[in-house]
Amino acid sequence: MTILFRLWKYMRPRLGAIAAGMVFSIVAAISSAAVAGLLKPMFNQVFFLAPAESPPGPEETAGPGSALPDLPGGDMLDRLHQRLEKHIAHLARDYLGYDPSRAYIYIPIFFVLAFLVRGLFTYLSNYRLGMVTLRGVQTLRLDLFEQIQRQSLKFFASHQMGLLISRVTSDVAMIQTTLGPPTAELIRLLFSFVLLFATALLLDWKMALICVAVLPVTVYPATRFGRKIKHSTAASQSRLADLANRLHETVAGRRVVRVFNTELFEIGRFRKVLGGMLRADRRSMKYLSLTQPVIELIGATAMGALAGFAGWRIHVGRLDPGEFMATLAALYWMYAILKRCARVGNELTRAAAATDRVFQVLDLEREVVEAPDADVLGPFAREIRFRDAHFSYVGEPVLQGVDLAIRKGETVAIVGASGAGKSTLVNLVPRFYDVTAGAVEIDGIDSRSVTLASLRAQIGLVTQEVVLFNDTARNNIAYGCPDVPLDRVVAAARAAHAHEFIERLPEGYETVLGEGGQSLSVGQRQRISIARALLKNAPILILDEATSALDTQSEVLVQEALAALMKERTTIVIAHRLSTVRSADRIVVLDAGRIVEMGSHDELLEESGLYARLYSMQFAVQPVA
Ligand code: ADP
Repeated sequence: MTILFRLWKYMRPRLGAIAAGMVFSIVAAISSAAVAGLLKPMFNQVFFLAPAESPPGPEETAGPGSALPDLPGGDMLDRLHQRLEKHIAHLARDYLGYDPSRAYIYIPIFFVLAFLVRGLFTYLSNYRLGMVTLRGVQTLRLDLFEQIQRQSLKFFASHQMGLLISRVTSDVAMIQTTLGPPTAELIRLLFSFVLLFATALLLDWKMALICVAVLPVTVYPATRFGRKIKHSTAASQSRLADLANRLHETVAGRRVVRVFNTELFEIGRFRKVLGGMLRADRRSMKYLSLTQPVIELIGATAMGALAGFAGWRIHVGRLDPGEFMATLAALYWMYAILKRCARVGNELTRAAAATDRVFQVLDLEREVVEAPDADVLGPFAREIRFRDAHFSYVGEPVLQGVDLAIRKGETVAIVGASGAGKSTLVNLVPRFYDVTAGAVEIDGIDSRSVTLASLRAQIGLVTQEVVLFNDTARNNIAYGCPDVPLDRVVAAARAAHAHEFIERLPEGYETVLGEGGQSLSVGQRQRISIARALLKNAPILILDEATSALDTQSEVLVQEALAALMKERTTIVIAHRLSTVRSADRIVVLDAGRIVEMGSHDELLEESGLYARLYSMQFAVQPVA
């Protein structure tokens, strides 16, 4: 539960609204107590029309021969009760023109007015405090999104997508729905409880004390249920994350699913996850449904006992019916409050579990962090240098001491068998990962000592898998710079051979692409991504060449687009095409995380080493483009 206090950070900025909400809660609580108090004249004066100038007080009812033991403060309470009642009667007569003989008009009106005030202030406090939670939850979601955005790629390799989505959506939603109104309510319930107890004490302290003495009997099952609910909710939430994962995987891998005809298999797996979820939910449903009846039953038993006890006291003339009804109402409300508290407690327990999961993500350390005194990296001028770079994802070393300098304007092709570490190596340049030992330097400056923004601003990236955002063609090309004028977007698209097909789209540059939008061919997607890189116009270019089977025409267009992009840039390319390898200034051959050969195509062929072997296996069959 203490985890909930961590949410305070999100509520604190709105201290004023919280204070206002509390004040409203207090007013609502006072009117609740007033409603209970009004029941006494309602019974004594409205229903029985007793001459009510001075209603029968406890002095007349609880005589000296009381069968119950007296407490030291008891007398004082009784006297306070009488005095308070007289005072209120005078106030009502002098200021509200209250006439006891017309109690049947006045008291019901007071009654309705008290409810009106109670309703109004309940609304105000719920609304104010609810809004505080809504705003806090918004900030929490944003923090969570930011935290996920700023994680290194390593984080995404080790976290399931569905899990992250469920943190930002369902867990935060649970915090919102369970924490918002209940906190407001809890405050009001607490005030009401105290005031009702005071009212009950004043009206009939003996009965009030007996009732309070049996309270723990009702509280115990509530806490027990709370604990059980907490466990089962945690289980059902993690099932929900499984659900999101399965959904995400099958949507992302839809083509694999179709081609392997595994729809039924996937539906079966989903059904299994649903089954697990149902089992977990059933437990929590069982306890949730049990809480209320059990507590109500205990409350009713107490009520029954109370009615018998009070009936006896009325019978022997120590209590008047109006007082009994008012005390009963106050006590009944106290029970109702406890019952509600039990529910709120359950809800808070669920919120606590969700909060815990959310903070697990928020507390994650960022692996790639900006140095506190990071400088802005100036425009790229001389070279990129890997200095004895080592890297490993989890255990196995993936890069083992790479030394490589890439001069400005050079095109360096990286080749090697699959799994040799090519992607890992190029990912170190924009600091998608940080080296585990050694360094990556730009113009002699360690890339870890400059700001991420200034480093990444100098790098353009074209990968095999083109990500199109669910946005217009124009915004997909001008991603991250929405203010770029259209003619610059068009110029980039022209150079990337994308202009022609974009113009043929239903709404040209304003056509929505990406998921749920217009579908494009692989070659077209690549040209969009090349246009994106052209527009960014960064001096360093990282290319992960596509091996995908582009048709010849598309291939020529993509090649030309790439040539335009690489012009006058420093390019590191993971090369799969022979033409790229041939035209590179230098070829770096990587094997098991080490550079094993380096030189031009002809030099390396002459060496008859790994490159020559790779070449004969991989490239020799390709036509020279
Ligand atoms: P290449 O690009 O040459 O095919 P990679 O750089 O992608 O090679 O991978 C090098 C090695 O690192 C491989 O053994 C691969 O299994 C491992 N690897 C790649 N990405 C991850 C990751 N996110 N988590 C753990 N291991 C990884």
